[in-house]
Amino acid sequence: MQIRQQFVTSNSRVFGGTNGCKTITIHETANFTPGANAAMHAKLQSNGNPGREASWHWQVDDKEAIQSFRHDQQCWHAGDGYGPGNFDSIAIELCVNPDSDWATTVRNAASLVRKILAEHRTITKIVQHNHWSEKNCPARLRSGYAGITWGDFLALTNTAPPILGSRTLKKGDWGEDVGDLQRRLNVLPSRLDRLVDDESYGPLTTQRVAEFQELSGMTVGTGVFDAVSYALLLKAESPPEPEPPLEPEPKKKPWWIPPLATGTTYIGAFKRMMTKTIEITVPTFEGLAKGFVAWVHDLYISNVRTFAPYLAAILLAWITPALRWLGIQPDEGALIAAGAGFLAWLWYVLARTFERQMKWPLLAKIGGYMLIIPKTPTYEAPTSR
Ligand SMILES: [Zn+2]
Repeated sequence: MQIRQQFVTSNSRVFGGTNGCKTITIHETANFTPGANAAMHAKLQSNGNPGREASWHWQVDDKEAIQSFRHDQQCWHAGDGYGPGNFDSIAIELCVNPDSDWATTVRNAASLVRKILAEHRTITKIVQHNHWSEKNCPARLRSGYAGITWGDFLALTNTAPPILGSRTLKKGDWGEDVGDLQRRLNVLPSRLDRLVDDESYGPLTTQRVAEFQELSGMTVGTGVFDAVSYALLLKAESPPEPEPPLEPEPKKKPWWIPPLATGTTYIGAFKRMMTKTIEITVPTFEGLAKGFVAWVHDLYISNVRTFAPYLAAILLAWITPALRWLGIQPDEGALIAAGAGFLAWLWYVLARTFERQMKWPLLAKIGGYMLIIPKTPTYEAPTSR
């Protein structure tokens, strides 16, 4: 619906006071002449309503609403003389010309009422002309013509302020949701002029919406604020997602450090190592060989978790008799122990590699025998000091 103003300059058809804008009064023109539309009635008022002692603020048909008098002016429409109908009410005439669509006219009038209600918070009621005087006006709404009752009309004027996003907004619309949209668009970046939040969806708002739509990625900015546009608005308003902090690379254990069971500390492992050492100190090479093979075997059976205790056991088992047999001083013996430890560790690494690459633990087991068996030195029982 188009809304325009064609103000009557003469004061010959209004009271001199100031309209209190407490109610809106609905009329029908009762002019069934073809062409007796809003434009025609606005013209009639502009011409001073010759021969008629009457005036009204608005006339509405199925295409437009035309304002003839400012809302603070008191028109002659209610038939209640100096009563509140004439003094404090805004008058709307619905055209009933046969060449117009009645349902559309009613909808337009309801839209106009909503707009006026938005402008004047003083208005508490929408009433019929009949409310002020006995006249059967608005006759069609009163009789439910074409299935549209007065109650239907009031429902259309529902004053609940529309919430942005609850309806599609386009040029010509108005309401609190339009004002909301205007204020929110003003916050967003734009190359266009700042909008006045007058709650009226005019050409500037249309341009601004179209610009927003294109900036938001729509190929063509339609200027019609629909559900998709509303979703885009919410997206534009939401703060950008913070960059997720970069996950620190999990520290890889150096490949040369033997694995321990989850939760095992090296101190804990050392304590257990010492315990096991006491248990399995083996004085003979046969025992050593068996121990070593058992270790390699266990390495695979238990997935290498008991590696450290076995390693220590073997080192110590080697060192104690070997030192005494060779008559080597403890310092040198420590060096040998380290060498033996290195060999054991090397074997461990090789065995692990075999296991990974060949998935054949038996090979490691055999390797264990090979390492130990080549030479069995003569052995003297250790003597305690
Ligand atoms: Zn009337």
